[in-house]
Parts: sequence; C-alpha cells; structure tokens
Amino acid sequence: MGELESDKHVEYILSIEKKKDDFDALLMEHLRINGAYWGLTTLDILHKISAVDPDEVISWVMKCYHDDCGGFGGNIGHDPHILNTLSAVQILALFDRINVLDAEMVSNYIAGLQNEDGSFSGDMWGEIDTRFSYCAICCLSILHRLNKINVEKAVNYIVSCKNLDGGFGCTPGGESHAGQSALAITGSLHHVDRDLLGWWLCERQCNDGGPNDGGLNGRPEKLVDVCYSWWVLSSLIMIDRVHWIDKDKLTRFILNCQDKENGGISDRADDAVDVFHTYFGVAGLSLMEYPGLKSIDPAYALPVDVVNRIFFGK
Ligand code: ZN
Repeated sequence: MGELESDKHVEYILSIEKKKDDFDALLMEHLRINGAYWGLTTLDILHKISAVDPDEVISWVMKCYHDDCGGFGGNIGHDPHILNTLSAVQILALFDRINVLDAEMVSNYIAGLQNEDGSFSGDMWGEIDTRFSYCAICCLSILHRLNKINVEKAVNYIVSCKNLDGGFGCTPGGESHAGQSALAITGSLHHVDRDLLGWWLCERQCNDGGPNDGGLNGRPEKLVDVCYSWWVLSSLIMIDRVHWIDKDKLTRFILNCQDKENGGISDRADDAVDVFHTYFGVAGLSLMEYPGLKSIDPAYALPVDVVNRIFFGK
C-alpha cells in the first residue's frame, strides 16, 4: 500500500492556487473559501501551514466579508452564506487571527438565521438543513458566543431529525456527522443511541477484496468514497465506537486513492484527485492516528492544537 506521500500532497495543494484560470478552478469558484479551508487545514495537519503567507490569506478572506450584515461569501463579491462564514472563521482560527473579526457582528448574522422551530437557514433565502445547525453552533462556539442563539431549541430541532438508523437528517454519513458534532459541542450527546448508530456506521465498510476494499460508503448499495472516511470516523469517535471499524483496511484504502506521482487524493482508487478528497483523506488518516500527522478534532474539524488555543488559550 505504500506510505502517505506528504510532500507531494503539500506541493499539490500549493499548486492549486497558481492554477486559477483552468476549468476546475472555475467550477470551484463559488466554493473558493471552502476550498481554501480544506487546503489550509490539510497543510496544517501535514505540519506545512508555514508554506503560505498568513497576511495574504487573511486579507483575501476579509475581502469575502460583508460588513453590512456580518456574513462571508464564497469568494469576493459573492452573497453571504452560513457555510462560507464557518469556513472563514475556521481559516482565521488556523492562523490565530480571529481578532481581526467583528465577532459581535458575525455572531448576530448567524443568530439571525435561526428559525422559530430552532432550525437554521443557510442564508437569507431560507433553505433549511441540519448541516447549517452545525455551522451555526460550531461557529458561535469558536467565537465564544453560543449564548446568541436558543441552544435548547437548536438541539431539539436536530434531535427531531433523528432517523431509525440512529443518524440525523436525510443522508447519514455527512448528516450524522453534522448532527452529532452539534450535539457534542453543546454537550447533548445523550440524545444519540451509540450502539445503533455505531453499528450502522460500521456497516458502511466495504469488504469485497477489490481495489476499494476497506473504504466506506454513505449508505447501503452506494460506492465507497474517501470523504466518508471523515464523516463516518469522526462520528464514531464522538460516540466512542471507533474501535468497531477495521482501521488497517481503511488506512490502506485511503493510501490507495493517492496520486503518487503528482500528489492529491481522489474519491476512489484511480479517479482524478481534488482538494476536497485530499482534505478528507488526510483528515481521516489523522483521526486514525497515522504517524507524523497533527491530530484533528472530530467536532470542530480543526487541528486539536488550534481548538485548544481557542478554548484554553494554548
Ligand atoms: Zn466524496
């Protein structure tokens, strides 16, 4: 299976910034701040965040800020959205620069997206999703301003989305992670049936002996995908059931999805790489304590040392 090609992945991430004109970059345009968060967090897990200039990053992030409402867009001139606002706050946290924010203003923007039933809309257009509840809770927690929202109602709304399989919302990998992280941050994990959800999540591991053996899928009969390594593993860690999964096989699967020549990680063996799956692959390996990586916090999706700095001042 070989090893993690850390240096190649660092080169790959650094090269993305320089390819702004190609087609992939155009497709990613509206996701740029999320893409920046994935790339920069990956660099940090690989101990290479020093390869970028913090001032350059922060000044670009702040150009995506809307000072009339307190939200961030996905790129300069794009409308604000709660997903992008979380990415911006996470990027600033990586560089220990949250102090450049008007935290009151940003918190008010997020609090303004909470609905009567406790749910959150993603932006002023009102689409509702438990992932947005997670974004709100994670962001406000980082800003030390959870008191800005009705946490009890937010938790009750997430719990009301619980499925028969023990996960939350309509797509159990990603949604379970969102639901559980939000509950973990607010100290409400007693709402989770750990054995039921743990069993369902472990059933996601593929055992066909093929090139994707050991990988995880998002639901039965679907293809395995490196991004579920993150969603499923982080969920299992939060409910203390990660020992139920075969970590050696999953590690082998992620390493098989590397482009060993040019760096980057793909969704499945031999597919094209992208920054999204590179992040989820490296973050998944970090959750499995792969040697030489910084450990990542499963709820905040930030390196543990960054989370400690936020809450314990180093
Ligand atoms: Zn994927």
